Amino acid sequence: MNNEIIENLAEKVRHELGLNDVLNVDMDIVLEKLGITLKIDETHEVEGSFTKGENGFEITLSKSYDGTNKRDKFTLAHEIGHLFLQYDPENPNRVFNRKGQTEEEYQANRFAAAFLMPQSLYLDSLNQHAIDNKVDMSEVANDFGVSVEAARTRGRFLGYLSWN
Ligand SMILES: [Zn+2]
Repeated sequence: MNNEIIENLAEKVRHELGLNDVLNVDMDIVLEKLGITLKIDETHEVEGSFTKGENGFEITLSKSYDGTNKRDKFTLAHEIGHLFLQYDPENPNRVFNRKGQTEEEYQANRFAAAFLMPQSLYLDSLNQHAIDNKVDMSEVANDFGVSVEAARTRGRFLGYLSWN
C-alpha cells in the first residue's frame, strides 16, 4: 500500500466524519462516530491495540485518555489506521498491537499522521507560523494537538521541512 493511497484514505475518513476543516481533532468524538469502544487496561503490555471484540471494534490503551495527551492521541489515530488499512472481516478477532517496526505498523503511523495533519491544513499552519523562512514548530504542533516531534516528522515526510 503506497503513501498516496494512505493519504487519500485518511482524507476520505476525515471527510466522512465531517472533519474536513478541523485542525485539532477530538478523538473521543472520532471514536464515538466510528462506533469504537475505548478500553483502558493498565496491565496491557503494549500502549495501544485494536481488535474486534464481542461488542464491536475496540481500542485498548494502557492508561486512561484525557484528551490532552499528545502521544495517546497519535496512538488512537494509529489504531484507527489498522481498522481502515488492515482489518479483515474474514479474520475479525486479530489483535493489532502497537509495537515493533513491521510494515503494517509503519502504515498505521502514516495513516495517523495524515489523519491528524492533512496536507493542506498542515501547509496552511506552516505558512501561518513562518517568519523569515523559520517556523515555530511548537505552534504548528499546537494547532493539531500533536507532539512537536510528530509535527516535525509530518513536515519532513511531506517535503516541507529538511531532514537535518
Ligand atoms: Zn499498530
